[in-house]
Amino acid sequence: MPEDSTTLVLGVDLGGTKILTAVIDPQGKMLSRDHSVTPARKGREAVVESILESTHRALARANISVGSLTAVGIGAPGLVDPVAGMVLTSPHLPGWRNVPLRDLVEERLGKQAFLINDANAAALGELHFGAARGARNFIYVTVSTGIGGGIVIDGELYSGATGAAGEVGHMTIDDTGPPCNCGNRGCWETLASGTALAREARQRIEAGDRTSILEYAGGDTAKVTAQAIHSAAIKGDRLARELITRTGYYIGVGLANLINIFNPELIVIGGGLSNIGDILLQPAFKVAGERAYRETFSAVRFASAGLGRDSGVLGAAAFALRAMRQLPCEQGDETELL
Ligand SMILES: [Zn+2]
Repeated sequence: MPEDSTTLVLGVDLGGTKILTAVIDPQGKMLSRDHSVTPARKGREAVVESILESTHRALARANISVGSLTAVGIGAPGLVDPVAGMVLTSPHLPGWRNVPLRDLVEERLGKQAFLINDANAAALGELHFGAARGARNFIYVTVSTGIGGGIVIDGELYSGATGAAGEVGHMTIDDTGPPCNCGNRGCWETLASGTALAREARQRIEAGDRTSILEYAGGDTAKVTAQAIHSAAIKGDRLARELITRTGYYIGVGLANLINIFNPELIVIGGGLSNIGDILLQPAFKVAGERAYRETFSAVRFASAGLGRDSGVLGAAAFALRAMRQLPCEQGDETELL
């Protein structure tokens, strides 16, 4: 597809706590960006209003009018139907059920809009502009408070029958494991996310285990976070290191499942928890190697997300650009290997 220098899209990354909007060109360059807080508790009208306000600030910073946009791409958390343009349900947006977010934004801005799940968007962001450039078969996994994912098969995002594919965080790892907010038990994210790590630490502290983790949580067990555990681990705290290794173990079990099912050439790992780095990921890769078929494991590379927190907003823009057939041909592979 020939590059059109006048093509600009607006990317929207709607999260449960923040909204990021950016004006983006087909090469993934951000001309402007705007951050704001998601008024999730005030209901969907307030959220849509905040998206529009953020959009206008991003447009003003890029010195363009809404008329200069080719389209709008929106990434939203939860179960999303991209064909219907609806957020079906979202644990991060209380009260949202079958919300026609695409049409609400389209009507207010007078621009064609596209809606996609946020982790699927991040996968597209990495495919077009980040660590997965040039990959044909890859899986994006984001490990933070939960676990999300996006599956790319033969260069195309696999969206499933109703657009809900890629919910890797809800594959069952332990059939009698902790309850998950999806209604199942022992989902991957109940064992391998930042939330799971913090929960495990709180239980061990309450059981009387010796640790310095509380020093990084203001002395309050309820305030123990993955960040506090990481800080303690850096200082050599044994419990903190043990808990991070355990979380890495469960990350590896899930990765082994993905490797055996999809035989990907690449798995890109993003999300806040992955920033812990080697003490989390080395046990994960070791366990994945022990559990997956040797043949499929030897075919996969692991890379850290190349776009950081911008993968979602860039991916939402890429989704709109793909839909409008405005993306340049894929570039070479510049993956940073882990
Ligand atoms: Zn679940």
